[in-house]
Amino acid sequence: MLLSGQDCVELIEAMQKTIEANRDNLSALDAATGDGDHGVNLATAAEFALNAVQGLNDPTPAEVMKIVGSTLINDMGGASGAIFGSFFRGGSKAIKDDEQLGLTEFCAFAEAGLAMVQKRGKAHSGDKTLVDALYPAVVVLQDGVKNGSDLPETLSMAAEAAQAGAENTAAMVAKFGRAKFLGERAIGHQDAGATSMALILTAWAEHLATINR
Ligand code: ADP
Ligand code: MG
Repeated sequence: MLLSGQDCVELIEAMQKTIEANRDNLSALDAATGDGDHGVNLATAAEFALNAVQGLNDPTPAEVMKIVGSTLINDMGGASGAIFGSFFRGGSKAIKDDEQLGLTEFCAFAEAGLAMVQKRGKAHSGDKTLVDALYPAVVVLQDGVKNGSDLPETLSMAAEAAQAGAENTAAMVAKFGRAKFLGERAIGHQDAGATSMALILTAWAEHLATINR
C-alpha cells in the first residue's frame, strides 16, 4: 500500500479523533505524575493541526507532517508540544522527496521522528516517556522493511508494540518531565505521553485497515 499526501491528511484526522476521544483519560494519567494537562494540550493542538492540513491543496506527505509538527511546536506549548512536534518535523525531513509512502518511507519517517525526539528531549528507553512507546514501534517497522512486509500489517504490529511499551512505563521511574520529581512514587502510573503515542499509532493502523486498495 502507498499513502498519498491526502491519505496523510486522513491519518491526522484519525489522530485528532482518537486524542479527542481519550482526552480526559490522558489528562487523568498526566494528573497522577504531572500537571494534568496532557489530554487537553494534545487534543487542542491536534485540532489546530487538522485544520491546518485540511486547508492544503494537494500536499505531499512531507508537507502534511511538517505542518503538523510546526503546529504542535507553536501551539501546544509545554515540554511535550516540542517533543511531539519534533516527531513530526524530524520525520518529515526523511520523506521530503517522496510523493507516496510505502512501508520503507513510513519507517524512515518514524525513525527520523524518533531521532529528533531523542535529540531534543535526550530521553532513552526506560526513562518513562513517549520514547518507550515509539522505540519498540520503530523496531517492528524496521523488521518489516527487512522482511519486505506490507505497510498496514506492519503498522498494526508496530502499534501493538507501542501499546505494550506504553503499558511497561507503569513500572518505570521517570527521568524527564514533571514526573521525575516524584521519584519512585511514579511507579504504578502509566506515562501519558507514551499512552498518546500508542493511541496515535493504533489509530493510524486502524485507519489503514479500512483502506481497500
Ligand atoms: P508538560 O510536561 O509540559 O505538562 P504534557 O503534560 O503535555 O507536557 O506531556 C507530558 C509527556 O511528555 C510525558 O508523559 C512524556 O511522555 C513526554 N515528555 C516529557 N519530557 C520528555 C522528554 N525529555 N523526552 C521525551 N518525552 C518527554
Ligand atoms: Mg503535563
